[in-house]
Amino acid sequence: MTYKAEYIWIDGTKPTAKLRSKTKIITGGGADLPVWGFDGSSTSQAEGHASDRVLKPVASYPDPIRGGDNLLVLCEVLDIDGTPHESNTRAALREVAERYAAQESLFGIEQEYTFFKGARPLGFPEGGFPAPQGGYYCGVGADEIFGREVVEKHLDNCLAAGLSISGINAEVMPGQWEFQVGPLSPLEVADQLWVARWLLYRTAEEFGVSATLDPKPVKGDWNGAGAHTNFSTKAMREDYKAIIEAAEALGRDDKPLEHIRNYGAGVESRLTGAHETAPWNKYSYGVSDRGASVRIPWQVEVDRKGYIEDRRPNANVDPYVVTRLIVDTCASALEKAGLV
Ligand code: ADP
Ligand code: MN
Ligand code: MN
Ligand code: MN
Repeated sequence: MTYKAEYIWIDGTKPTAKLRSKTKIITGGGADLPVWGFDGSSTSQAEGHASDRVLKPVASYPDPIRGGDNLLVLCEVLDIDGTPHESNTRAALREVAERYAAQESLFGIEQEYTFFKGARPLGFPEGGFPAPQGGYYCGVGADEIFGREVVEKHLDNCLAAGLSISGINAEVMPGQWEFQVGPLSPLEVADQLWVARWLLYRTAEEFGVSATLDPKPVKGDWNGAGAHTNFSTKAMREDYKAIIEAAEALGRDDKPLEHIRNYGAGVESRLTGAHETAPWNKYSYGVSDRGASVRIPWQVEVDRKGYIEDRRPNANVDPYVVTRLIVDTCASALEKAGLV
């Protein structure tokens, strides 16, 4: 059997890493996907004189673009001695997820993004602006909706790849959309979100449209793009005391700043206190409160169990980083409080 394996990895671009991929033709029926290599000097992952870096397959999915037996292969980047490259944030998540595995953490991440056609968001007229925000969120009709054919194709591609997408919706600004991944374990949700992002760019390519995770693609009175991160542990899914402890833990000591600093480049430009955000430098949580840093959904208060929503992460956040920080902060606090 001969098939195409699209090896996908996360590069070393700062402050926000980019996705890269290249194709390996695989012949023969070996069960294991082989390790491979690339030129790290072209991806900000090496200097020119010793530029070989290693791609280690960690997850694979049916390739919905090429179909057939072809695969999408998500990789970790290693140095040639087999240790994780400094750009490899998945390695650190592996350790933390393992340490707190008994708490059975689950995440659902809401990925917002914006389509661009040339230099303008899709739906923005050449020069000037569309009608102010108000009717676009979950809207319908050609005067309000821009890019639905791309969104539908992306959704189909994600489902065909076996990704756990839980929904999609049009967002507050024209050309802005959201899909949700999860609930899944920390490694699964982060792996699948990176692959769903790759599929977003790749699907939009066919329509001559680009997608961006820029947290504030249009300055002024236009919503930014976030990646609300919904989180629960087994205890939180059973006991409201654990919900409150998790929300409290995220606000304790130096945690608010440690999290904010790692929630995506340009987070201050989005978390202004306007447009359904809390100011980046003031931690708060509340029931049903979309103006708080962390929201406890109303249903969770009614049921006295469930999950919390961290509304601070930017659209461009690294899901390996946000899930690691939340598990580390909340699972350790729940353990300390005897709530596990
Ligand atoms: P909203 O737009 O109202 O903030 P969404 O419906 O877009 O909410 O997203 C809610 C997310 O919460 C979904 O991704 C879902 O998978 C996730 N979720 C639901 N239950 C849990 C849970 N127990 N633990 C973690 N995530 C959860
Ligand atoms: Mn949502
Ligand atoms: Mn949203
Ligand atoms: Mn949300």
